[in-house]
Amino acid sequence: MQLVTYVVAAGPRVGAVVGDGIVDISRHVSGAPGDMIALIREWKTLRPRLEQAMAGRPDQSLSSVRLRAPILRPGKILAIGLNYLDHIAETGAERPAHPTFFAKMPTATNGPFDPIELPAVSKALDYEAEMVVVIGRRCRNVPRARASEAIFGYCVGNDVSVRDWQKRTQQWVIGKSFDTHAPFGPWITTASDVNAHALGIRSFVNGEPRQSSNTAQMLFDCAAQIEHLSQAMTLEPGDLIFTGTPSGVGMARTPPVWLNPGDVVRIEIDRLGAIENRVEQGSGALRME
Ligand code: MN
Repeated sequence: MQLVTYVVAAGPRVGAVVGDGIVDISRHVSGAPGDMIALIREWKTLRPRLEQAMAGRPDQSLSSVRLRAPILRPGKILAIGLNYLDHIAETGAERPAHPTFFAKMPTATNGPFDPIELPAVSKALDYEAEMVVVIGRRCRNVPRARASEAIFGYCVGNDVSVRDWQKRTQQWVIGKSFDTHAPFGPWITTASDVNAHALGIRSFVNGEPRQSSNTAQMLFDCAAQIEHLSQAMTLEPGDLIFTGTPSGVGMARTPPVWLNPGDVVRIEIDRLGAIENRVEQGSGALRME
């Protein structure tokens, strides 16, 4: 099943994709929440009722609405660095013994087709095609063998990176957390629908192929990532894990090639869909509310 957050005049709604249409979940499933994280929390009881509703006519065509980030405000966005063998090789880094995690701040959340900002303070803007795990259960100390129970679904993501800010200190967090730099979507594909470690993953800039690999190439797979993270922290419904990028990022080219205003970055993953974000120049203007 594919679940979307989309906008109508009255505000954001959650829906299920049926063909080229959307079934408005809270309209057809009485008592269903209009928010994706609440929906994930109640998924066990809601799913059978939603499946019934999906047999009816869709409420909207998919093309007539603006899709937002499937989860508007994730509690946590975790991301693993250096997780595809081909990307480790292109960065010249050693193969890591332990998974290297950093955080992207929730304010970086962005929609699947919304602009990404080239910040006024940098020119070194780069893309990273990534599969994104959506956590489905509140959990801690999850052993590898049970990690699949903690996964609600998967999305396509772009771990947009400001390379000079990322590299000039030992901490990557700021360089990975600029506003708009965590676009994902276009929907959540529920975990039971895909084998997540057998999917082609690709990126394009203005239609030119830049990355092409397969999620089978991950050094630490999704289960290993959940096992590792949950030894430290409680994972919660709607938390995201960006699971790493393959080779072909702009930083690794000779000379490096950065994103410019007007460039369109497309990330696609087999069976999970595609997201497409245009680069816009940020003004650097003061904003205070
Ligand atoms: Mn990344």
